[in-house]
Amino acid sequence: NLTLQLDEAKDVKEVAVAWGQGDSRTHTFEIYARPGTSGTWTKIHDSVSSGNSTDLEVYDVTDISAKQVRIKAQSNSAGSEWMNVTEVKLYGANSAGGGGGNDADIPSIITDGSLFDLEGDSPHPLVDSKTLEFVPLTTQYTTSGGGGWRHEYKIKSSERKAMYDTYEEFSATYKMDLSNGAKTIVAQTHGSTISTLMKIFDADSSESGFGDSVANNGIFDVYVRLRGTDGNEVKTSLCTISSGDSFDVTMVNNYGTMTITACGKSATLKVEDDEATYFKFGNYMQSQDPYTREECGTRGDSDSWAECFEDFGITTSKATLTNVSYSSNH
Ligand code: CA
Repeated sequence: NLTLQLDEAKDVKEVAVAWGQGDSRTHTFEIYARPGTSGTWTKIHDSVSSGNSTDLEVYDVTDISAKQVRIKAQSNSAGSEWMNVTEVKLYGANSAGGGGGNDADIPSIITDGSLFDLEGDSPHPLVDSKTLEFVPLTTQYTTSGGGGWRHEYKIKSSERKAMYDTYEEFSATYKMDLSNGAKTIVAQTHGSTISTLMKIFDADSSESGFGDSVANNGIFDVYVRLRGTDGNEVKTSLCTISSGDSFDVTMVNNYGTMTITACGKSATLKVEDDEATYFKFGNYMQSQDPYTREECGTRGDSDSWAECFEDFGITTSKATLTNVSYSSNH
């Protein structure tokens, strides 16, 4: 058993646990809490760890005012009763938020491994119960065929459905801290045979047709690309922002008819169908020359991306998300 004691009783709403060898074995466990240092323990959660991550997994527990929290491991899939926990965090009503007015806890469905996979876990984006921070220049996470460094959550492959069978809603407030000339994708929907059906960008590039469209001047165009049923992409300019500004994003996918709203402006289009689609969000830095929009270096070559970002003076790329919600018929 592992028992944590707080200085005083606090409201506990979520408990995050990082399991030793958590990427190769599952742990069956229970979580208990009590308001003082003696008396009866109340069970506030029981579950099995995902078995696919050594990072913190967040468990939505029965809300309770607790001074002591106890994690009791039942067994693990390696057949041992050893409890192997590398890190624990408690989240509650009084957690430090990322700034005023952020009311919503990050939904556990995003972070508990049941629906989303995390791409880039060092550092983990969950910095407190209400805030996700995506820093791809730090994670330097790459995938084959990618066009830059990622730090994103994506719907896991076992949960993917046809676009026309999917209903989902996502919303978040994005605060974007970006060096001049940066270009990043903050949310997207992929298909299995069609690469992307929807992409929301925040970019300081020369790409034409937006509110600014001037490369490397510190004014970022927020825009969306939606791929229609005819296979053609429709670009819609949503707003311009500066580094450090925030904007609200909502995405509604109504069985293939997508409505993207950012900065209060919307674009709606029925997109192509695809048999296994998945929504992603976070911060996917594009390795591109902001003037020519040519991709730097060899595709998938992380060293060339590092050189590229350095050449263009791109040293900051942080997306701070608050007021995050996601619901779907998955
Ligand atoms: Ca610009």
